[in-house]
Amino acid sequence: MDKEKIEIKPGFEERYKKIFKDEYELFLKYSFKFPKRAIRVNTLRASIEEVKEQLEKIWNLESIPWCEEGFWINGDRRDIGNHLFHQLGKVYVQEPASMIPAVVLNPKPGEFVLDMAAAPGSKTTQMAAMMENKGGIIANESDYKRLKMLDMNLQRCGVLNAVITNMNGLALGKKNTRFDKVLIDAPCSGTGTIRKSFLTLKMWNKKMVEKLSRLQEKLLESAFNCVKKGGIVVYSTCSLEPFEDERVISNFLIKRSDAVPEEIELPLKRDSPITEFEKQEFHTGVKKCLRISPQRNDTDGFFVCRLKKL
Ligand code: SAM
Repeated sequence: MDKEKIEIKPGFEERYKKIFKDEYELFLKYSFKFPKRAIRVNTLRASIEEVKEQLEKIWNLESIPWCEEGFWINGDRRDIGNHLFHQLGKVYVQEPASMIPAVVLNPKPGEFVLDMAAAPGSKTTQMAAMMENKGGIIANESDYKRLKMLDMNLQRCGVLNAVITNMNGLALGKKNTRFDKVLIDAPCSGTGTIRKSFLTLKMWNKKMVEKLSRLQEKLLESAFNCVKKGGIVVYSTCSLEPFEDERVISNFLIKRSDAVPEEIELPLKRDSPITEFEKQEFHTGVKKCLRISPQRNDTDGFFVCRLKKL
């Protein structure tokens, strides 16, 4: 898509020039680049060897360094969704950066896990595979219309250890159930995923970012209440907005002394987390967060934070 033909709002330009400085044009270039498609082998239905052997007959697969089951597909990849392996649930079409939050949460077989905002289920299916279908996942989604897709994906991928719930994530923190691990892959403005949908740019405005930021803070608080002591919460967004990312974490760390951000070590190129923005200085704990822009690894932009509950 030609970026000259798409309107970039002055407020967006001003803000993202502040974030990226002399890399702003590079950020735009990668935000408008045709996305490299990728798959994750669903090890509940197939082995990595089986998928590689078959798919390498038609495509060239390139390993994604931070996810053992993930592969970029090079060559003509228009029909991945129609390939039998997709229909049989042997592979899941998933953006490589979106594979990161589950890898960082690292759920193990036998654990009790909450996926607070689960539809359409990329990360639920990934976690079920990591857990070898053992233990349990509550796959929650507040939007009734998105449940069908979540359900279909869980069935297609042979997930047997997940139960779907249709609740507002904000209510879950008030229940007495405590999980070993919680993922809150929050609703966000999606400014890391412009190349997937240019609508993101059309919809973007500062008011929406502030509104989302308030919801994200509440969802993180609720997610943290759902985890047991010693447990882990992963907060993620596909937004590059400091107020949806570092500020959410910062405000939370200021409030909760029992939340400790943990180092995220993965083989990928990363941005420095933002420690202050628009005259607001953030908690030093944000330095542990993972921020990646599209131009770093030729992926969507993503933000991930791993918090331990003392
Ligand atoms: N984790 C999903 C995946 O990997 O396939 C993507 C989740 S998407 C980024 C965010 C989801 O949060 C949307 O499906 C949205 O409907 C849901 N959502 C929005 N507000 C919510 C709330 N208050 N409680 C729970 N889910 C919510």
